[in-house]
Amino acid sequence: MTLLLGAHCIDTGGIPMAARRAGNGGMRALQIFSAIPKFYNDKVSVKPDRLARFVEALDAAGIAPAHVIVHAAYVLNCATPDAEKWERAAAGLAKEFERSTALGVGGVCFHPGAATDGDREAAIARVSEAMRRALAVVPASHTRLLIENTAGAGTTVGRTPAEIGAMLDGIPAAVRPRTGYGLDTCHLFASGYDLAGSRAALTAVLDAFQAATGEPPAFFHLNDSEGALGSNRDRHVRVGDGQIGPAAFGWLLQDPRAQDVPLILETPQAHPDIAEDDDTPDAWDVASIARLQALAAETSRDG
Ligand SMILES: [Zn+2]
Ligand SMILES: [Zn+2]
Repeated sequence: MTLLLGAHCIDTGGIPMAARRAGNGGMRALQIFSAIPKFYNDKVSVKPDRLARFVEALDAAGIAPAHVIVHAAYVLNCATPDAEKWERAAAGLAKEFERSTALGVGGVCFHPGAATDGDREAAIARVSEAMRRALAVVPASHTRLLIENTAGAGTTVGRTPAEIGAMLDGIPAAVRPRTGYGLDTCHLFASGYDLAGSRAALTAVLDAFQAATGEPPAFFHLNDSEGALGSNRDRHVRVGDGQIGPAAFGWLLQDPRAQDVPLILETPQAHPDIAEDDDTPDAWDVASIARLQALAAETSRDG
């Protein structure tokens, strides 16, 4: 049983530099973008030389490709009722999946999007449809297409176990193992799941997602929350420094479901404007990982 702690490392200088920063920080997992996340990137492919440099950098960093997650572009709304926008989002998602598969990573996570017309059921069906399309066009590999739970702002879908379960229920059994989901602690807390109440409360949240989907999460995003419980605010702060607080992260890391899956920090960076050729790890990420390891080793924090 291993804690695969890592971070979404800055890719200034390219994704091989993100891998080098992660390796130099002693990280066991890594998250990256496969293209500029504010664009659809529905025409962007991974060039062979870029792939080779990334694979080489991961190898030197001692990070298994299976422990790398790609985060899809934020602009993709695969839940939208607007047919034109949906086509573009579905094409963007398929391309994210194609790039992630080419990079050989363990999974690509995406935010399912928003039911802007208020019809959540139809929106959930459209997310499944976009996933089915991506699965149909990208050849089978060990790279998985993973739904990330949302903070529940506005009409966003994918907040509850039932909604994520319904999206995955829309995937044919033959390709269902190529899909899954992951949980972001800030999004859980902001959408009303009280992870900080007690160890039992946190365990019950994980149980509910597992019961609705038939499987444990494929990754966790370890972010504390600036916003209050149920605030629907997606504002990440460093672990232990927000409204969730340190104890809940200790409980989570002691759960068997947090073992052997990527545990990714998506929290503010000490040096967001790092130079292209600077491969030092971010000091705040390194400190947060040390803090998480200490919390995981504590045995007396039963709340
Ligand atoms: Zn995300
Ligand atoms: Zn996240």
